[in-house]
Amino acid sequence: MEIRWVESHFFDPYKIANEMIIIHHTGSKNGKINSLEGTLAWFKPDPWREHSKASAQYVIPRYENYIVQMVRDEHTSYHAGESSWIIKGVKRYNLNDRSIGIELQGDGNLIEYSSFQYEALIWLTRRKMEEFRIPPELVQGHEHISPGRKVDPGIYFDWKYFRYEISSKTQIIVPEPYPTTQPPDNDVVLRYPEEREVTIPSGENPSFFERVLDIFRSLFG
Ligand SMILES: [Zn+2]
Repeated sequence: MEIRWVESHFFDPYKIANEMIIIHHTGSKNGKINSLEGTLAWFKPDPWREHSKASAQYVIPRYENYIVQMVRDEHTSYHAGESSWIIKGVKRYNLNDRSIGIELQGDGNLIEYSSFQYEALIWLTRRKMEEFRIPPELVQGHEHISPGRKVDPGIYFDWKYFRYEISSKTQIIVPEPYPTTQPPDNDVVLRYPEEREVTIPSGENPSFFERVLDIFRSLFG
């Protein structure tokens, strides 16, 4: 499965944990499904749109045969909004900084998803469940964590099939090296809230905790 990196600057390097996976759809306007280009553009910043930040870690196109990643798993993206779920016995709110957001291109209240989308979504979800030890009950739709909103990923999304696929086979997957989730190999500049810029030399890929430790060292060391 190919993952292409299209960077969004709508993210926060602060994240608590990857405890949940949230499934969304990108929606429609006047009966027309949002295009992939339009969706990716919406998840990237425009100067006049800073107030309406939206992003997700992954977008799964309808017609192409690859997954798009826009935000690192270790960073917080803006997909869940007002939301809540019980995680390990504790009710948590506003789940962006505890989850990975996956967007399916389309509107699940208008039309079925493509078979590629199910294939890619199941592949990606199982992979992330393995990687972050996320149990099936913490894989939910936006409609579940934010009740009252429009059904998202929609009435046509086949939860029964999806849940079967992610529950029955997840435990036997052996994770492979997964370099494609990271941005291209050249130097990567991460933005921190205090406008500090940290350059990660190419070839190195420090963990989230190492990066947090570095920030603390530079602030208090
Ligand atoms: Zn959503």
